[in-house]
Amino acid sequence: MDLPLVVELADGGHRARPLGPDASSRLLECWATGVDLPDGFRWAHGSHAWETVPPGERTIDVDQTNSSVVVGDRVVVKWVTTPLVGPHPAPERLHRLVEAGFESMPEVWFDLEWLTPDGHWVPVVTAVALVRDATDGWTWCLDEARAAVGVLPGPGLPFAHRLGEVTAAMHLALADSPTGPVATHGDFHIGQVLRDPAGELYVIDFDGNPTVPPAERVAHRPAAYDVAGMLVSLENVGHVVQHHHPEVSEDAVVAWTDDVQTQFLTAYRDGAGELLEESLLTTYVDDQIQRELDYADAYLPRWRYVPEAALRRRGRW
Ligand code: ADP
Ligand code: MG
Ligand code: MG
Repeated sequence: MDLPLVVELADGGHRARPLGPDASSRLLECWATGVDLPDGFRWAHGSHAWETVPPGERTIDVDQTNSSVVVGDRVVVKWVTTPLVGPHPAPERLHRLVEAGFESMPEVWFDLEWLTPDGHWVPVVTAVALVRDATDGWTWCLDEARAAVGVLPGPGLPFAHRLGEVTAAMHLALADSPTGPVATHGDFHIGQVLRDPAGELYVIDFDGNPTVPPAERVAHRPAAYDVAGMLVSLENVGHVVQHHHPEVSEDAVVAWTDDVQTQFLTAYRDGAGELLEESLLTTYVDDQIQRELDYADAYLPRWRYVPEAALRRRGRW
C-alpha cells in the first residue's frame, strides 16, 4: 500500500497533502501493517500496540490550526497544514512526557515524520487516542464561567486546582533541571485542555505557537511562560462571557477570574514551585496580550475586543 500523502512545494514552503478519500484511515492501515516507507519518512513514538481501527471518518470542526480527523471513534489523526520547517518542538516534548509517564494527555499512537532538506525530522501526521465525549477547552471553560456568574444553571465542576496540578506535572516532565528551564508546551491556553465527562483534563497539541519562527518554537523557556499563557486565557474566558452577557456585573466576572487563577497558581506552586520564577509573570502576560492583539489584527479581527479588555484590566500580574 502506498502512503496516502505527498509532500510538495506550495506557497514557497513544503506542505503535506493527503491523497484521495479516507486518507486518514489508509494512513492508519499503513502504520498497522508496517508498510515500507519511502526515503525521507519515518514512524516515531510507536509505543502503542499495533491495532486495526474500525472504518468511519469524521472531521473535527472547532477552531484549529491544522486539520484533525477522528477515525473509527478511536483515534485522532492530525494532518499538519502549516509549512513543514524544522526544527520542530513536538518530538522532544512528546518523548520527555512519554518517558516521564505523564498521564494527562491522550495516548500517543505515532507520528509520521518527514526529513526536511536542511536535515530536521518534522511531524507530518500525528495520531493520538481519541478522548471520548471530550469537550473542547474553550467550550467547557466558558460554561464554567457562565455557571459561576449565573447565566447557566450551576453548580459547575471544579477544575482550576486540577489544572494547576496537571500543568505542574507536565512541567516537571519537561524540565531540564529542578529550576528549569523547561521544553515548555509553548502554546498553552485553555483551548489546549480537553475535559472528559468525569472531569478529567488532558493537555493536547505540543507543536508550539504556530505564529513564532521555528528556532524560537523549540527554545526551552522559563516555566512562567506557559503559566502566563494559561493565566491570560482564564482571564480571556471572563472577557468573552462579559461580552456576550453585558447584563452580568463586572465584579462577578472578575471574582470568578481571580478565583480560578488563584486556585490554578496555588496548585501549580504546590506541585512545581521551584520551577516558577514569579517575577517573570508580568512581562510574559504583557507579551501574551501583545501577541493576541497582533494575531487578531492579522487573522481574527473578531477576537480583538478580548486582548483590548485584558489591556484595560492590567494590574494583578
Ligand atoms: P491544532 O494544532 O490544529 O490546534 P489540536 O491538536 O489542538 O490541533 O487539535 C484540534 C482540536 O481537535 C482540539 O481543539 C480538539 O477539539 C480536538 N482534539 C485533538 N485531540 C483530541 C483527542 N485526543 N481527543 C478528542 N479530541 C481531540
Ligand atoms: Mg496547535
Ligand atoms: Mg490546538
